[in-house]
Amino acid sequence: MASKYHYQCNDCQADYPADKVMYLCPACKEKNVAGQPANGVLNTVYNYEEIRKGASFKDLFSSLEAERFLSLLPLKSMDPWPKLRVGNTPFYRFDQVLEKNDDLEVYLKDDSQNPTFSFKDRASALVSAWAKENGINTIVAASTGNAGSSLAGICASQEQRSVIFVPAAAPLAKLTQIVMYGAIIIPVKGNYDMAFDLSIKATEKYGFYNRNTAYNPLTIEGKKTVSFELFSQMGQQLPDRVFVPVGDGVILAGVYKGFEDLLQLGIISRMPVIVAVQAEGSRNLILNYSRDTFITEPSTTLADSISVDIPRNFFMAVDYLKKYKGEMITVSDPEILRASVQLSRKTGIFAEPAAAAAFAGLLKYSGSGRLNPGSKNIVLLTGSGLKDLKAVQSSITLPDPVDPDIDALSSVLSGLS
Ligand SMILES: *Cc1c(COP(=O)(O)O)cnc(C)c1O
Repeated sequence: MASKYHYQCNDCQADYPADKVMYLCPACKEKNVAGQPANGVLNTVYNYEEIRKGASFKDLFSSLEAERFLSLLPLKSMDPWPKLRVGNTPFYRFDQVLEKNDDLEVYLKDDSQNPTFSFKDRASALVSAWAKENGINTIVAASTGNAGSSLAGICASQEQRSVIFVPAAAPLAKLTQIVMYGAIIIPVKGNYDMAFDLSIKATEKYGFYNRNTAYNPLTIEGKKTVSFELFSQMGQQLPDRVFVPVGDGVILAGVYKGFEDLLQLGIISRMPVIVAVQAEGSRNLILNYSRDTFITEPSTTLADSISVDIPRNFFMAVDYLKKYKGEMITVSDPEILRASVQLSRKTGIFAEPAAAAAFAGLLKYSGSGRLNPGSKNIVLLTGSGLKDLKAVQSSITLPDPVDPDIDALSSVLSGLS
């Protein structure tokens, strides 16, 4: 039987068999220089005709769903999949989350409900399962915090060892998670980009298996599972727009890849509009979208998970956006904070700033009348607000304590209606 999948370079289109560990395209990798996005990120290509043959066309999606999309994953079986519940996260319709009633349908995909409280578990689970299936026990990653805490937690559940490189200034909750899960943590004096480069050197020197985003092609394959769920949870319909927070652009590519798999199989016939949302203070993907030479603005945003100087998956993300007419928007830190408060108060979902940024993108769109009445809009909520309490402190006030008697209480409550 022909192999189930192979890799294809996003840049030079060269094909590679997937019978061993592969990271970047060996040919394009040579062209890469420090300070620039990486060429040679690999796409995973399946034998779509073979998959289509496997099921009667009418029930194709349902039969794929019944086997947990194994036909569209680079695994031989689901046995090595973590025991923890990864993915299959809640999906809510919450039109009232908007201030003015715009007659929009608003759906929230709450990926903070993953085992380590972020979307990153989708990628970690697949990388970990693949490693298990292939007899690999130590996995390394560089991370702004979530990918590392995710890999650490998933590896703990799988009896695997993880080595995590993080900028020393990552939020305390994420650092705490990494240590609690028993990973080997390497805080790096420097930013994410420096931690990333050091983790690659460690991979080359010690032969670890590397989970880095836009380096290990399987992260995209893990992340794409969200699109299968969205299609399913919408009753096998497509949304009009999906708002996705963007740092390195791997979640964005994953969302596209999931829908693209469904396009390849003829299950859907169009791509929804994906809206890439970046922080104004970290907008290097949007800044460089139409430029010939890549320039970098140093990132400053409170949304640490999307604070990235060099979007690692820049080329693939831009290719997808161009191919499928994706859209882009930036939101400021005050807009992110306001969105975070509004989301929490109107839905009971407390998201971390990077996730609130995606919601801020929707608010900005609806505020400027860019969305058609009745249109279906999904916001990807990628992480939990408990991961970064410091970020929102400026937007809340904890009242002074009251004396424990009813009169003192009455004077406080008299201000409320
Ligand atoms: C990593 C992350 C993102 C951004 O994903 P990229 O693939 O880097 O674009 C957004 N939100 C959260 C919570 C994340 O952890």
